[in-house]
Amino acid sequence: MPIQFERREKVARYVDAQTGEEHGITCELRRDPLTGHSGRVAHVLGFRLHPVDFAPMIEASRHHCPFCPERILSVTPRFPAEIVPEGRIHCGEAVVFPNLAPYDQHSAVVAMTHEHYVPLSGFSDPILRDSFAACLDYFRAVQRLSDTPYALIFWNYLPASGGTQIHPHLQAFVTDTPGNALEDELAAGLRYYQSEGRPYWNDLVHEEVQLGERFIARGSHTVWLTSFVSQSLLADTLVIFPERRTATALTEADIAEFCIGLGQTLRHFETQGIYSFNLALFSATPDREDFRVHARISPRVYMTPRIWGTDTSALQHLYGEHFMVRTPEAAAQDLRAALNL
Ligand SMILES: [Zn+2]
Repeated sequence: MPIQFERREKVARYVDAQTGEEHGITCELRRDPLTGHSGRVAHVLGFRLHPVDFAPMIEASRHHCPFCPERILSVTPRFPAEIVPEGRIHCGEAVVFPNLAPYDQHSAVVAMTHEHYVPLSGFSDPILRDSFAACLDYFRAVQRLSDTPYALIFWNYLPASGGTQIHPHLQAFVTDTPGNALEDELAAGLRYYQSEGRPYWNDLVHEEVQLGERFIARGSHTVWLTSFVSQSLLADTLVIFPERRTATALTEADIAEFCIGLGQTLRHFETQGIYSFNLALFSATPDREDFRVHARISPRVYMTPRIWGTDTSALQHLYGEHFMVRTPEAAAQDLRAALNL
């Protein structure tokens, strides 16, 4: 079946206690065109972003940060020589070392920069490019030794995202078990390919460019959209590499363009009052003709910072049902003006 953007509205009715008048509040149910997973546009009334003062925790964490340049080489571990003969991988300011809280057999951390704290508007092209290039160097080092096929990168920035250090760092790991979201995408993408004869991801780009509602920008190596069913309250940005199936196949030019767009996206987030985000790179194996590498950038916020209320309730955490307070279409319209690849 070709790509469908399924949405339907539902109206919840209530009676105003003061006037006795009946009113309706609309929410919208959507289904992801690939996986069929549902999500909602809901909780829209009265939502606004509240600023959070991170300054005290930035200063308090600076004095014992293991990723700051005065400590990193003495307190972070080294790779065994058969993985990385030099012990750690260096690329510009980025340093890759083993994760002492590993997620799998091959699990690394990338300290991205010498700076302990970087505001979202401060992630320069060299910081981003060197950090992602360092992840690829690590993947190549591991894949020389192992046939674990999935090379994944994720980034939790600042505490609202689940990040456990203020100092900017990426997680890179190589695994044969890539997690439920990617496994669902791989299964659904294969079904789509068998039915339509083309990769879903290239058809998605074609459809989104035609519709224009969620399309943001297209460069020589990447296409930028917002996700029809996002996992953030504030809509996710999807970055698709239309020519690539695996992270290790990404070229310097691919990474360079991705990092230009990522830096511009983060600067835009800051203008919107967004201070925290998750990023995940989804990558398959070279034989997967149906798959294209893509990244999801998902703003994270405190819903009610006054009481440390997070943006993840039982609805998302236990029912697996995400909702957006802002439509992906409105988010795309804003980001379109901010991106220039
Ligand atoms: Zn630090």
